[in-house]
Amino acid sequence: MKYLIALDAGTTSVRAFVYDLSQKKFVYRAQQEVGQSFPRPGWVEQDANEIYFKAAYVLDACARFAGEALAGVGITNQRETVVLWDGVTGDPVCPAIGWQCRRTAAWCAALDEETKTLIRTRTGLVPDAYFSASKLRWALDHVPAAGQALRAGRLRAGTVDSFLIWKLTEGKKFVTDVTNASRTMLFNIRDGRWDGELLERFDVGADLLPSVRACDARFGEVTLCGRTVPLAGVAGDQQAALFGQGCFSPGMGKITYGTGLFMLFNTGETCVASSHGLITTIGYRIGERTAYALEGSMFHAGSGVQWLRDGLGLISTAAESEQLAGSVPSTEGVCFVPAFTGLGAPYWAPDARAILTGVTRGTKRAHIVRAVLESIAYGARDLAECMQRDSRVPLSSVRVDGGASANGFLMQFQADVLGVPVDRPADPESTALGAAMLCALSLGLTEERELSSFRAAGRVFTPDESGTKTAQEGYRGYLDAVRRALC
Ligand code: ADP
Repeated sequence: MKYLIALDAGTTSVRAFVYDLSQKKFVYRAQQEVGQSFPRPGWVEQDANEIYFKAAYVLDACARFAGEALAGVGITNQRETVVLWDGVTGDPVCPAIGWQCRRTAAWCAALDEETKTLIRTRTGLVPDAYFSASKLRWALDHVPAAGQALRAGRLRAGTVDSFLIWKLTEGKKFVTDVTNASRTMLFNIRDGRWDGELLERFDVGADLLPSVRACDARFGEVTLCGRTVPLAGVAGDQQAALFGQGCFSPGMGKITYGTGLFMLFNTGETCVASSHGLITTIGYRIGERTAYALEGSMFHAGSGVQWLRDGLGLISTAAESEQLAGSVPSTEGVCFVPAFTGLGAPYWAPDARAILTGVTRGTKRAHIVRAVLESIAYGARDLAECMQRDSRVPLSSVRVDGGASANGFLMQFQADVLGVPVDRPADPESTALGAAMLCALSLGLTEERELSSFRAAGRVFTPDESGTKTAQEGYRGYLDAVRRALC
């Protein structure tokens, strides 16, 4: 019997799962909430030590459960968030700057065109405050302790994975994986190295940053409950979900329906540049082989359902939206665009705001609830269209996870809107599963050809003929509503 631990260091909680290799499922989990602080409008910070202590706590709980059977630990984590720490004391020199933090938005907007083009071509990213580089530059410029540690040659900087690995290996390993590195805006995704020219432009020394390894590499060793095991297998959360969903071939995509919506589309060994404002990213690297992906996101998806519940009081639980939406055959022309904080790809309109169109005297609460759920599926269709146009690879099927993937109405409607099967696994924890699979691969406890068997089949929603007709008409109505939201 062999157990692996998958550590999932998310934004609002840190969780660890014990994965049983013989049963191919999680048999134990531990979770700790982690705080966020918002010291100024648009600023988001976290205490990196809190993330580490809580990670150590949940790892310890899992290691106690796993006992002698524990073979290794894989890690997945929130991406882009930057931690700066003192390489001698191991203490952070300032709060971690969160991925949602907008403090460097103006700085990024003011970058010269040449730098912006360089960022796009080398890193595959859209120049934006979301990614790590400008957050790191900000800390170097504004945090005196960072400057002092830098001058003393003691400063270390990296994403959450690299800080956790540093702490868990007691300062022995300063490493990250390619997927996390590809979110920093400093990493050349084509040649798989920190980009010398970008480091120069951001004035960041290469020695500040961790060395970069493949996702299935060995990252060090950790001692848990007196037992020393390898830290093996690391990927950023969305990439780990892509892997955990078994999207190994070009044309396979996964959608995570959480507060927002994240779609990743495997483009294989081709690094596809987007002409629709999507991000090109490293999906994963196994050994020497890199699979690239296109990534698109909607800022608001499940949050629309939360708004129905908390803002409008139209439903009392998120789950209730399923029965209500299914109680009417259509929205009767009501259309919703969830642009609460602007629209992302392919519109990129930060000033757009949500709208509800086509409301008549006969509109009932079920129509509005249905329109909100439909808008999530339409937004995903927008992303899928861009991905297919950019890559010229047709979407073959889509695998789904996240809180709102529990909604059967939404999943069926998504299949009808996309015209491809929507495949929901039995276990929604794809992110942790991805980390467990990378760990198993790294330790030689599985082989690449066996990886597909890790994902337990759940339910497949296939496009339905009459539903598809309604969905296609609805999509046209949605595009019309988007045009109005953009005015
Ligand atoms: P996150 O990781 O972003 O916190 P989760 O994956 O936990 O998100 O999903 C939570 C979101 O999913 C919430 O916005 C909630 O409104 C939505 N949600 C949860 N269950 C359902 C459901 N049955 N139908 C529709 N939306 C749901």
